[in-house]
Amino acid sequence: MKKFNTLSSRLTLAFLLVGILGIALVTTFHTRSTRHEFDRFVTEGRGHDFGDGRGDDFDDERGSRGDGFSSRGDRSQSENLFLRNVVRTSALGAVGAVVAALLVGAVLSRGLTQPIRALTAATQRMAEGELGTQVAVSGRRDEIGRLATSFNKMSADLAQSSQKRQQMTADIAHDLRTPLTILRGYMEGIRDGTVENSPQVIDIMYEEVTHLEHLVNDLRTLSLADAGQLPLDKQPIHPRSLLERTGLAYIMQAEQKGLALRIEADNALPEIHVDVERMTQVLNNLVSNALRFTEQGEIVLSAKLQDGTMLLRVRDTGQGISADALPHIFDRFYRVDQSRQRDTTGVASSGLGLAIIEAIVKAHGGDVSVMSEGENMGSQFVVTVPVQL
Ligand code: ADP
Repeated sequence: MKKFNTLSSRLTLAFLLVGILGIALVTTFHTRSTRHEFDRFVTEGRGHDFGDGRGDDFDDERGSRGDGFSSRGDRSQSENLFLRNVVRTSALGAVGAVVAALLVGAVLSRGLTQPIRALTAATQRMAEGELGTQVAVSGRRDEIGRLATSFNKMSADLAQSSQKRQQMTADIAHDLRTPLTILRGYMEGIRDGTVENSPQVIDIMYEEVTHLEHLVNDLRTLSLADAGQLPLDKQPIHPRSLLERTGLAYIMQAEQKGLALRIEADNALPEIHVDVERMTQVLNNLVSNALRFTEQGEIVLSAKLQDGTMLLRVRDTGQGISADALPHIFDRFYRVDQSRQRDTTGVASSGLGLAIIEAIVKAHGGDVSVMSEGENMGSQFVVTVPVQL
């Protein structure tokens, strides 16, 4: 059945149908009408024979020739009539075949042009800016059905990415505005003499500038990754060494919070080829998040080889992530608590951290995923990196 789902097989079938219809019509006309004409021709021919006044002897003589070909003049007249009728019958058959072909062609072309017209109208609407326009596929499985399905997907994807772009522009504007407003307020205060130009004020302003700088750097990293131009300086490193770099950077913070920070990595694991600075940035970000969202228990950094891929895990026993939030966690500017721009320790939260992690890991040919049993059940982030053995 699947074979008949293509346009070419449908067209072939339609042409075959037209051919069969044509043959059937011509044959039917011929067999019916020609037989009738032939019978008449024979009967009329005989009539001439019997009616010529030359008696039965002639007929006996002709015996086997009692076929209507009685005399030269009569024969040509009957023959002409017969032939004319045969030609007329053939012409009728041919006209019938043409009408049948036209009917089949009309039905077929309607079936073909209708969805194409719908697609053309939808493309025009999209060109006019109506992204997300859909066409009815109505269960077609042929090339036109597949074209319509691809069109619908492309249209929906375009609408989604346009909406994401708009949202991202709004998020960037929002994230830039907050530190800029703080900076402007302090600067105006100093200029007007209402705020003292003290070291504390300078510190606050410096912090806001640093935040702006981070934001701009993050956006630059993302745009480089989007363009596939994130520069990577890959070097061989043992996974344990990589985890230890992050472990050392955060052990003090973990201890201050009363959390255990452990590393689990077999010394026999093979080396991986990664940009050490960028991969450290990935792990640092994951551990920094784990510290922010874990109040008791432990944070475990582990490495494991599985099917030629190195799995680098950061697991915590913190507040976990709800099933609703999980699918969006890597989206740019996504924060579970959208209203919170800074966490309790004052660390600026842009919602770009995990998006950058994903971009860096993907640039290495790997992937990153998250698992969480739900709120207060902890979270586990797994970074995969291909191993060049
Ligand atoms: P942010 O800059 O806000 O930290 P991220 O992209 O790093 O942005 O994280 C997005 C959101 O994912 C955070 O706002 C937080 O709600 C959630 N999240 C990330 N890591 C964890 C974790 N280990 N435990 C619980 N929630 C987390």
